Amino acid sequence: MMASHREPLLNELGKRDGEHPETDVERKKLPLPDLTEREVMKHFIHLSQMNYGIDCGFYPLGSCTMKYNMKLLERVVKNERVVQVHPLQDESTVQGCLHILHHLEQMLCEITGMDAFSLQPCAGAHGEFTGMLMTRAYFEQRGEHRTEVIVPDSAHGTNPASAKMAGFDVVEIPSKDGMVDMDALEHALSEQTAAFMLTNPNTLGIFEKDIQLIARKVREAGALLYYDGANLNAIMGKTSPGVMGFDIVHVNLHKTFGTPHGGGGPGAGPVGVREHLEEFLPVPRVVRQGEGYALDYERPRSIGKMSMFYGNFAVLLRAYAYILRKGNSLQEVSERAVVNANYLMERLRSVGYDVPFYRRRMHEFVLSLASLKKKGVRALDVAKRLLDYGFHPPTIYFPLIVEEAFMVEPTEDESRETLDSFVNAMDTIVHEDENIVRGAPHRMPVKRVNEGQAVRNAILTWKDL
Ligand SMILES: *Cc1c(COP(=O)(O)O)cnc(C)c1O
Repeated sequence: MMASHREPLLNELGKRDGEHPETDVERKKLPLPDLTEREVMKHFIHLSQMNYGIDCGFYPLGSCTMKYNMKLLERVVKNERVVQVHPLQDESTVQGCLHILHHLEQMLCEITGMDAFSLQPCAGAHGEFTGMLMTRAYFEQRGEHRTEVIVPDSAHGTNPASAKMAGFDVVEIPSKDGMVDMDALEHALSEQTAAFMLTNPNTLGIFEKDIQLIARKVREAGALLYYDGANLNAIMGKTSPGVMGFDIVHVNLHKTFGTPHGGGGPGAGPVGVREHLEEFLPVPRVVRQGEGYALDYERPRSIGKMSMFYGNFAVLLRAYAYILRKGNSLQEVSERAVVNANYLMERLRSVGYDVPFYRRRMHEFVLSLASLKKKGVRALDVAKRLLDYGFHPPTIYFPLIVEEAFMVEPTEDESRETLDSFVNAMDTIVHEDENIVRGAPHRMPVKRVNEGQAVRNAILTWKDL
């Protein structure tokens, strides 16, 4: 449970000029609060105690996969030999780093069934955008004028946004029983179609069992099949986008492979492709040269550079260490993620929660809290009330096709006791007085905030006006 301190700003704490004789005269000229090291330390520790992180408790943020990440990885990225490297150093002096990048690309190829990878994109959305630019380059090269990208209505919002930013028109198709509606897909496919972007298992946690048929239809239409692999937690070592018939993949290393990413970063969204798209990958590519490695910029068909230098190296290194550490047990991650999700879903159903499109799930599932609306309670209220019981809330109001969506992903590394205690809290909340739930959180240092305003009018710096 989080602590609750009354914590003024440092400037408010430190307006006591002259109280500390050890403060030297020079420093007084700067507009800095007059505080001792210990006071500053206490301030920041208090703030950290009021924060909720992955190391505090359960964090079932569906689709966003905030999971336990080995502390070993933090040790690896703090290694002096990594920290002291500069991206402008001569290639001959960073052979170890190039080896890591090259080997990581190969491991991602193996995991996803692709033929080549670029590690440059710095987020999932950035990877999608890279994939869409490559799709455009591919059809330009073939002399085909294709202007449309199809996305299902269950897609993550970044999918249509990335396609649009790359200059495509977005065609949305409805889902049927929580999966791709084959008739709608066939109807939407045409000579205009450049790509179909799909998440599998989809955002409801359902595996698209007709994926090979989908891949065939897309191929027959001459289009490319794009895999949103933001979350690979369900399929590692079990199957791969390559086996399913996809042409392009992005993977969120900060979700599946070991980097905690609270507050939107840091991230890495490498993009993998099958052979026919390799020449369009961003430059530079890390290539073998003699006994060592070199950076290759001589790729005339490349879409160009996607970020400064070679990507977000610390995130890439964590993923590298994560995969090496797991080795052949990578598939156990998926097995446990799927077992945990199904266990939790069944238990929540047994205490009365509604699971639309009910069937076996993969790594996550989506409840609908629409029935609580009768009591005047909404998904947002239940999410806030969970804070009072010491849990980070799940993702809410996504995917859009479920009313009052409540998207839970327990991840692979939570114990049965943790999952049971979450069910107990959810069971308590469903029987609570609606006014208590609607007014939540009650036990937090910060009560209900205006989230709309916080997003539209974020004030992130403090100014002494
Ligand atoms: C998180 C996520 C993305 C976007 O990834 P970012 O790194 O946040 O840009 C895309 N698709 C799905 C399914 C996701 O869960």
